Amino acid sequence: QTRQHTQVAIIGAGPSGSVAGALLKRAGIDVTVLERSRFPRFSIGESLLPQSMEMLEEAGLLEAIEQAGFQYKNGAAFRCADRYCEFDFREKSSAGPGTTFQVQRANFDQLLADAAAQQGVPVHFEHTVNAIEFNNEQAELEISTPESAYTLTADFILDASGYGRVLPRLLDLEQPSPLPHRSALFTHIEDRITDPTYDRNKILISVHPTMPDIWYWLIPFSNGRCSLGVVGLDSQLELDQSQHHDPADSTVLQSWVAQEPKLKALLEQAQYDHPVQTIRGYSCGVSQLAGDRFALLGNAGEFLDPVFSSGVTIALKSASLAAHALIRRYQGETVDWATAYTVPLMQGVNTFRTYVEAWYDGRFQDVIFYPDPEPTIKAHISSILAGYAWDKSNPYVVESERRLNTLATLCRETV
Ligand code: FAD
Repeated sequence: QTRQHTQVAIIGAGPSGSVAGALLKRAGIDVTVLERSRFPRFSIGESLLPQSMEMLEEAGLLEAIEQAGFQYKNGAAFRCADRYCEFDFREKSSAGPGTTFQVQRANFDQLLADAAAQQGVPVHFEHTVNAIEFNNEQAELEISTPESAYTLTADFILDASGYGRVLPRLLDLEQPSPLPHRSALFTHIEDRITDPTYDRNKILISVHPTMPDIWYWLIPFSNGRCSLGVVGLDSQLELDQSQHHDPADSTVLQSWVAQEPKLKALLEQAQYDHPVQTIRGYSCGVSQLAGDRFALLGNAGEFLDPVFSSGVTIALKSASLAAHALIRRYQGETVDWATAYTVPLMQGVNTFRTYVEAWYDGRFQDVIFYPDPEPTIKAHISSILAGYAWDKSNPYVVESERRLNTLATLCRETV
């Protein structure tokens, strides 16, 4: 067994790992990224939010994404039976980018990892972190590759392992999410949409006509294909864990699509030519986001819900906050991880949480589908949907629960 040392070890080369790696390397910190799989590999999480463009730019990774030919995205569209509304993110109240992309994550994640590597970040594929020990001076990571095993010592670990949740498992930090267990059934389709009113520049979220807590995503890509998924409680989707799910069989997903007449009409000609996958009970939390020698990034920490496509944005925000805290640490400052990382990260996560909970109990759906919104209020809501959940100049961020309740009541009374 060989032993090696790095200042910061990053577990996982998803978006949060690559962005953290690039930011640290740019600050002259010696960093090593360890990735279990071989890229490209499939990942879910394809509709980005404009706020995430700022973190990519800061890490010097935006150009690679802008040049890749991904589907341009300028907003979100929502449909529930005959109610339809659009949010154009360029009309948001927050400063910052108003457009972004919808991406096949296999390509996107590979582009980010390659661009980080071009900046000098060592990214090691098929290096799996199996165990970690902490002592007073450093952390020791036990790593295996297809050929061998070795030990890497590090001053600090950023866990960007997503659903691998390496440190939450090893340090027993896992906490159940307060959100109920929901699942998703999804695939990629050749969409063959001919409806001239369909806007490929927006994600389309459709609500089930009779069960408003069940919803569908339709995320167009730039190559005539779409990501399509349905989300509901485990019990509603009846994804029986004991039964074998045949990925080649799209009939269950198609039967859900058939229950939403507008979506069914839109996808009349669609070709279901890709495996159908499921993710169950995806929401998760942790008891602690950082310690003396570690911080949890992105999905390795907290994951809420896919309804507002906030996952990658939160992952990149966490990478940026953690990298800046580490840069200060290597400049000789004493960093308090609660104030430098956990509190600011959770402020945005909790803003999203307020709107996610209100989506499922109906309050936020009433706001979204309100036919005649006041433009300033719509701009504030657009900002949140565009990912600017950390913008404290937005009253719907700082006082999210109170403002949302007042607005929802008003919308209900005046419809
Ligand atoms: P990941 O992208 O998951 O990367 C983690 C990496 O760590 C992986 O490459 C993995 O191989 C590696 N790894 C794991 N274990 C180890 C180990 N032991 N050693 C070494 N490497 C390891 N987000 C959006 O922004 N938009 C969406 O539209 C969206 N839709 C979603 C739909 C569903 C149904 C779900 C469940 C989530 C969705 N998300 C969406 C969330 C999104 O998938 C995640 O938030 C995002 O991928 C998190 O990025 P990450 O960098 O934290 O981790």
